[in-house]
Amino acid sequence: MDIRVAGVTKEFGDLAALHDVHLDVRPGELLALLGPSGSGKTTLLRTIAGLVQADRGQVLFGGLDATHLPVQKRQVGFVFQHYALFKHMSVADNIAYGLQVRERAKRPSRAEIRRRTSELLDLVQLSGYENRFPAQLSGGQRQRVALARALAVEPRVLLLDEPFGALDAKVRKDLRAWLRDIHERTGKTTVFVTHDQDEALELADRVAVLNLGRLEQVGTPDEVQDQPATPFVMTFLGQATRFAADIRDGKVLVNERGVRADARDLAAGKASLYCRPWHLRPTPAGQGNFQGIVSGTRRLGSIRRIEVSGDDGTRLEVEIPLEANLQPGEQIGLEILDGVVFPDHWTPR
Ligand code: ATP
Repeated sequence: MDIRVAGVTKEFGDLAALHDVHLDVRPGELLALLGPSGSGKTTLLRTIAGLVQADRGQVLFGGLDATHLPVQKRQVGFVFQHYALFKHMSVADNIAYGLQVRERAKRPSRAEIRRRTSELLDLVQLSGYENRFPAQLSGGQRQRVALARALAVEPRVLLLDEPFGALDAKVRKDLRAWLRDIHERTGKTTVFVTHDQDEALELADRVAVLNLGRLEQVGTPDEVQDQPATPFVMTFLGQATRFAADIRDGKVLVNERGVRADARDLAAGKASLYCRPWHLRPTPAGQGNFQGIVSGTRRLGSIRRIEVSGDDGTRLEVEIPLEANLQPGEQIGLEILDGVVFPDHWTPR
């Protein structure tokens, strides 16, 4: 089932939590809504679910307008950050709940409910846990029950709001692989909210990056990382250093020395060049685009991260191979190998 969000705006008082958001979720894809706190991720997910009513714009499911369809009729499965399991019900009863409360004509037989519950327990790898109560489960196990419960009613789409947000780092990581696997087995169109870049990039087919209620880019993990559409996407998805640059004759210059970044579509003038650590290479002092002094070095597994204080007062971090043995106090140059250029006075659409 595909989902279309068409020009959705949602205001709370003076604050635009969502501003003219357009988003197409493809059938069967796993899409991450990624952004910092307050960027509008939850509001967008809840608008898709029907828990929030948009001020403007539409939400379509499978091409049909669902904007005014109440939440019960949207056939969405929802999992929240804080497991909303029924404490007094067993795991099996929690999973079966959505089927048990259906009106008589639509309710499957008891045998059918048992069969489906056992299938779902198997899917979320909790067979043998059916008679436990939520208090007897770990946080990760509870979220797996919550997902099984959401899937039990065979929703058209699955909406997950920071499903692993309350869990510790190790459990979160295990559950990522697990969710990816479940997604591949069910093929259910899934939208999940996260503020964790690694989680989004590792799990999702495509990532939708939100900032201050605006959708800044939608793309595959490779696209948003390698071809960021905005400076925000560039800096939010990883370590990035900004250099003041000039565009002249279709070329990028930093401190009057050329850089091999792509500037074909840019008009001449002032610009910003954003570089990942691996776009920068230390050179002997006096060479390269940037001059400074090594002010610190730190080993990060198989690479070394050095901090450079520039002669112009800027500070930046560069990742270099371990063998390059630079010491604090050393005067060096930096050659800029590549980067992403944005003209200054740039505004998002
Ligand atoms: P977080 O990661 O912190 O949950 P988020 O990206 O999910 O953040 P939202 O919860 O969608 O962000 O909130 C977007 C903005 O809308 C925030 O500034 C928030 O304070 C505001 N907001 C959300 N819901 C309401 C509400 N019911 N009433 C007033 N303001 C709200």
